[in-house]
Amino acid sequence: MTAPTTPTVRADFGPATGLTCRECGAGYALGAAYACADCFGPLEIAYEFGGVTRERIAAGPASIWRYAPLLPVAPYAADEPNLAPGLTSLVRADNLARALGMTGTLWVKDERANPTHSFKDRVVAVAQSAARRLGLRTLACASTGNLANAVAAAAARAGMGSVVVIPHDLEAGKTLTTAAYGGTLLAVRGSYDDVNRLCSELIGEPFTQDWGFVNVNLRPYYAEGSKTLGYEIAEQLGWRLPQQVVVPVASGSLLTKVDKAWRELTGLGLVQDSPYRMYGAQATGCSPVAQAFRSGADVVRPVRPDTIARSLAIGNPADGPYALDVARRTGGAVADVDDAAIVDGIRLLARTEGIFGETAGGVTVATLQALLAAGTLDPAAETVILNTGDGLKTLDAVAGVVGPTATIDADVAQVTAALAPTPLPTSLS
Ligand SMILES: *Cc1c(COP(=O)(O)O)cnc(C)c1O
Repeated sequence: MTAPTTPTVRADFGPATGLTCRECGAGYALGAAYACADCFGPLEIAYEFGGVTRERIAAGPASIWRYAPLLPVAPYAADEPNLAPGLTSLVRADNLARALGMTGTLWVKDERANPTHSFKDRVVAVAQSAARRLGLRTLACASTGNLANAVAAAAARAGMGSVVVIPHDLEAGKTLTTAAYGGTLLAVRGSYDDVNRLCSELIGEPFTQDWGFVNVNLRPYYAEGSKTLGYEIAEQLGWRLPQQVVVPVASGSLLTKVDKAWRELTGLGLVQDSPYRMYGAQATGCSPVAQAFRSGADVVRPVRPDTIARSLAIGNPADGPYALDVARRTGGAVADVDDAAIVDGIRLLARTEGIFGETAGGVTVATLQALLAAGTLDPAAETVILNTGDGLKTLDAVAGVVGPTATIDADVAQVTAALAPTPLPTSLS
């Protein structure tokens, strides 16, 4: 073992041994750092895994913390077991498969059951544990909405301060819920990319010394939380991998981490090595990664977002190039769908499976449909799609297109009239 850190820190940080630059490979001690001092490349966690078995994981808690032997930090005692995210349902979606003409098994990994109803509770739980070990007292973030909920709620429960920074015009289902958890909520007149730049600038300020920005200076820890979605899918399939997966893409972190999780499980011998294709899903109004994929480019050119899928509206995605690499390396693709298709996707998932997803879920379902129509995705292969958030937070997306079948008085005749496909004029009073 060649741990670059002291034994105390090492014990606290589980299998994590340090931080490594993804570009040049330079190594650093574990801390609140995210960019390489030499080349400015992103840092990620380096590990030495030991003694990880299916049995040990299965004997763990019914949350993301069952995968603690594969994460940079163990749960901070007070976080566990209450309100820990993870172990959400993997729903067999036969009705949706039939509606889409798929003959292979289709699954929906449904993230609505997390404490604040999106997969962001996973990444925050890991970043928060790291923050507490590093002695940081305030949890902060730049958010497109769901992260705001997750940070404010987790900080409230842990008795930490929180500073959440969001674009001012997000959905009420995300701003009001964040405000209810308390803490400081800063609504910035600007886009998410403005918010993100502001937070990077704040990190240099003396008053933020004991702040952990979960997706900025704690990003290496935060990002690892997304691996738990990949671990869970494999475990819930009986310790094997699906052939195809469709993942919504904002910064691109989630997509790259599901791939990382599956490579780790394969490397550790916990699942059999089997090929899988990874597909990224974006909204046409913010599709920098899909555009790069289509044009064959290696660089992702920033765009100015304009879409109802606000949770995915990152015009300059930090992990975009890595997501592109994963899609290409696995033989997948990155595609996009317009706002009308997103609304149809939300409704199709709700109608066929009883799952009401948010706009990002609509993006994923509609992209699945588009990839099938283009012949890019195999209808006969076993496929998993991720529903990463809850439609109750983005009601505006469907407000104009769904509603009561009829608005009537409490009168049997009017019910009869409403039920009749072509009501007879005589049945109306
Ligand atoms: C943040 C978010 C994503 C994408 O996350 P990245 O890791 O930034 O790509 C997907 N779906 C929902 C609902 C989100 O909130």
